[in-house]
Amino acid sequence: MAKYKHTDIENGQGLFLSINLKEQLLPVTFEHMLDDLIGGRIDISDFDKNYNNDKTGAKAIPPEVLIKLIIYGYSKGMKSSRKISELCKNHIIAKALTDGMEPHWTTIASFISSNSEIFKETFVEVLAYCAELGLIGGNTFAIDGCRLPSNASIELSGTQKELEKRFKVFKRMAEKHIEKHKRQDENGESTKETEENYQKRQKKLSMQITKMSDFLMGMKQKEGKYVKEIRSNVTDNESAMIRTSTGYIQGYIGLAAVDDRNQIIVSAGAAGSTNEGEYLPQMLDDTLKNIDEIGVKLPEGKKRVIMSDSNYFSEDNLRACHERNIEPIIPDRQYKKRLGGKENRRYELSDFKYHEEENYYECPDGKKLKYKNPRVLFGKREGKEYVASVKDCRICPLNTKCIKSKKEPSKIKHGRSLLITKSNENGSFCNEMRKNLNTIEYQDEYARRIGIVEPAFAFIKYCMGLNLFTLRSKKKVNGQWLLYCMVHNLRKCLKEYNKEMGYAT
Ligand code: SF4
Repeated sequence: MAKYKHTDIENGQGLFLSINLKEQLLPVTFEHMLDDLIGGRIDISDFDKNYNNDKTGAKAIPPEVLIKLIIYGYSKGMKSSRKISELCKNHIIAKALTDGMEPHWTTIASFISSNSEIFKETFVEVLAYCAELGLIGGNTFAIDGCRLPSNASIELSGTQKELEKRFKVFKRMAEKHIEKHKRQDENGESTKETEENYQKRQKKLSMQITKMSDFLMGMKQKEGKYVKEIRSNVTDNESAMIRTSTGYIQGYIGLAAVDDRNQIIVSAGAAGSTNEGEYLPQMLDDTLKNIDEIGVKLPEGKKRVIMSDSNYFSEDNLRACHERNIEPIIPDRQYKKRLGGKENRRYELSDFKYHEEENYYECPDGKKLKYKNPRVLFGKREGKEYVASVKDCRICPLNTKCIKSKKEPSKIKHGRSLLITKSNENGSFCNEMRKNLNTIEYQDEYARRIGIVEPAFAFIKYCMGLNLFTLRSKKKVNGQWLLYCMVHNLRKCLKEYNKEMGYAT
């Protein structure tokens, strides 16, 4: 029988080794690049102004160490500060990145939550390095939002009335809880275990009651664009109840503008709102500012292009692009219907001809839609209404393609109407956009959007595991989102960095 060597390590015995920590960071790897760049080519001296311990006070963990550790942790799918801190205790790569230091999880958590403003500077530093490697084209960007829950309770969300109702429910629950406990005491049913459970539950309920009563005392109703009041949240009032493809979440939308050359995120920010479209002007300004700062020039005679989905389609947003000399490619909500089932679609404004002198619209059947009156929809959307005669529409051969009502055409009570708002009147930016998107050239360009922005979000969500913002308040969530976008950009640099250093595979 063959004889093999055995060691004690096979039996779980530990081994003392004398190692050089930095040698554990092998060239070609992400951690090697991270160790080389942070504090070197990526300047992080802005963090120094946070520390006032030059004369008195204890020595602090260098920000360079914390940044390297947090970026490494995030890149490995760890979003909790406790888990990132644990890495330094038993993971040799983390030990090498932190030079053997072991920051406590509270140090990591407070560093992430208190430096959101400085992360913006670091984000631009990383961006400048991406530009140095030639990864940024600077001509075409896709802007979109990634909807994620945050550390806020969806149950404690509602309008003032709803929250007041819930507050009463909590109070009733607390009273019933006390009554039940009294009964148990009187009947001699109390045990040590029931007493402990009672104390725990009572503590939780009274905390919730105090929190809600404090919130309700200082509450200001949030005004919505189309509804009178939008929901507030007791745990994080800057977050919003957002609709996603799988239901409602309480959280934020992580916005990002992504460059088309290598999917580098050129600007990012968090929005605590259901309507991501209203943040487009801000995103445009941030994108232009960052691109300017890193010195990426636009080829002469070219215009920058922004692509977004229909959530961003509005007259104000298209005007904002025009004012900044940017070419927008943003479809309206009917774009897909127009592009696909042309046969089944209902006649829309572009199928009606406007006669300016007499102020009426002519329908596809040649009938008149007369100006009726100004109209206000949802209390906010103003427009002029043009209506066809109900008699004409009842007997029209085209009425199934034109009238929305599911009734028998002969039984309809109103003729077809058109609401002309500032976004669909002749010469509006929205109308121009609709016309542009009827051309193959624009449609082809728009088809690229999904391949630019979605891989970046997929990487952040599925490879880095960001399925929840762990912080509260817009400022802090913004900082966390910027950090994730920074990690994404750094990972994109790895290939070019290795080529530059001569480690190319
Ligand atoms: S249904 Fe009325 S508005 Fe529509 S095409 Fe016929 S007549 Fe014109």
